[in-house]
Amino acid sequence: MMSASHENQTHKTRTYSATAGIQHEEPLLFEHEHLAATAIQLPGVEGEVDDALNAFARQTPAGIPGLSEPEAVRHFVRLSQWNHGIETGFYPLGSCTMKYNPRVNEQVVRLPGLAHIHPDQPDETVQGALALLYELQTWLAEISGFSHITLQPAAGAHGEVTGLMMIRAALDARGQQHRKKVLVPDSAHGTNPASAALCGMYTVELKSGADGRIDLDELKAHLDDDTAALMMTNPNTAGAFESDIKEICQLVHAAGGLVYGDGANLNALVGVARPGDMGIDCLHINVHKTFSTPHGGGGPGGGPVAVNETLAPFLPVPRIVKDGEHYRLLHSSEQSIGSVLGAIGQTGVLLRAAAYIAAFGKNHLHKIAEDAVLNANYVLSRLKDAYHVPFDGRCKHECLLTDAKQEKHGVKTLDIAKQLIDLGFHPMTVYFPLIVHGAMLIEPTETESRATLDAFCDAMLEIAAQCEAGETEALHAAPVKPFRRRLDETQAARKPVLVWPQT
Ligand SMILES: *Cc1c(COP(=O)(O)O)cnc(C)c1O
Repeated sequence: MMSASHENQTHKTRTYSATAGIQHEEPLLFEHEHLAATAIQLPGVEGEVDDALNAFARQTPAGIPGLSEPEAVRHFVRLSQWNHGIETGFYPLGSCTMKYNPRVNEQVVRLPGLAHIHPDQPDETVQGALALLYELQTWLAEISGFSHITLQPAAGAHGEVTGLMMIRAALDARGQQHRKKVLVPDSAHGTNPASAALCGMYTVELKSGADGRIDLDELKAHLDDDTAALMMTNPNTAGAFESDIKEICQLVHAAGGLVYGDGANLNALVGVARPGDMGIDCLHINVHKTFSTPHGGGGPGGGPVAVNETLAPFLPVPRIVKDGEHYRLLHSSEQSIGSVLGAIGQTGVLLRAAAYIAAFGKNHLHKIAEDAVLNANYVLSRLKDAYHVPFDGRCKHECLLTDAKQEKHGVKTLDIAKQLIDLGFHPMTVYFPLIVHGAMLIEPTETESRATLDAFCDAMLEIAAQCEAGETEALHAAPVKPFRRRLDETQAARKPVLVWPQT
């Protein structure tokens, strides 16, 4: 009896990954056997084909895979079932903020007046959509503590480039073309130095202090007449708030540089504290993280950039302006850096973000940050004895652990992550930030229940107990349940196979 009820309990609280029951192994489209089949019936071609195509008519079959319509549909649906998404289960990928995307966002964005419009329509015919986007600008500016904003960039990384282009333009306008040095803490996301390089600047890495935060002496030692900007994330990627933020901004400004805020972690601050009030000049907002729009797999995102008065003249165009009660797009302005994306931005994504903000309303937005921080600290407090915690104290919206205790038993972060897959959870972010060895960065977000957090923590504690008991073989073999096991991810990224048959 005891063991049966334990079974039930386990199944109630834990979702095993997509490997049980009628899950299908699925070949490539090209490996389906009947290449001659087709899902569409086209009428035959009338007249001489060769004449019509000026002798460019194909002599050999195109090699398009042959499937009936249900076979084609099943192929893609089956592949989608191999994937883990926020709607399949817990997805605690630190720094990525994989929160649930409410259905109401989708309803809003599918309203015909929003879904069926074209960016080149005359302004008079899209007043409602422009009003809503203008309103969103106002909300985002107020949330982040800035005076001006562009909705154009398509993602956080794109926002970084846009922000640095504005910083470049502002420095150039001051006659300071020589300022090309961008200071980037060693805890930063990899997109930060990449964006600086793309804007013709070079980066100097700031070594973090013993607490994982920016070290003021290290900062001072690198500030000079060549400094263009400091790029910083707050809370930083170790989940810690940069409590010296005001002094940091003052130091950079006194040296003649500007401060770029990477706003990917705004989830921890929204409705509670505003980066603009802390002295930052410019901040990108990953709406697909903080404001619950879908992301992952390179899909569409949104990276609005908020700026203060110093950078406002350089904002991209087109911009939405309001003349009395009328909205219009401003297509050029003298000092603008120009356009960084077609039209106003990823309107569908932006409108979903607007729906999320509106659902909370001005007076309740703080619950996002409070619950996100509470959830991360709950996970931290349940796991802090079983796993090594590199930086003391409470965390913000994500908690950082390492594999130091498990490494003694020959088990590494990667093994722990792979075992989580067998237990039905998407792994946390692993080996990032780079400043700690064997990092595991866990971001539960505000949208998870305590029951889900407990199920995840139970799984993590079970793995730690397995290590202590010396039952490490299974951990090295994991994952055993999915169709594909330990892939060579480096090889896949460096040498992707993009043609079939493989050459
Ligand atoms: C996600 C992230 C970025 C990049 O944002 P994208 O929207 O993925 O381009 C930059 N910095 C940090 C800290 C992030 O977490």
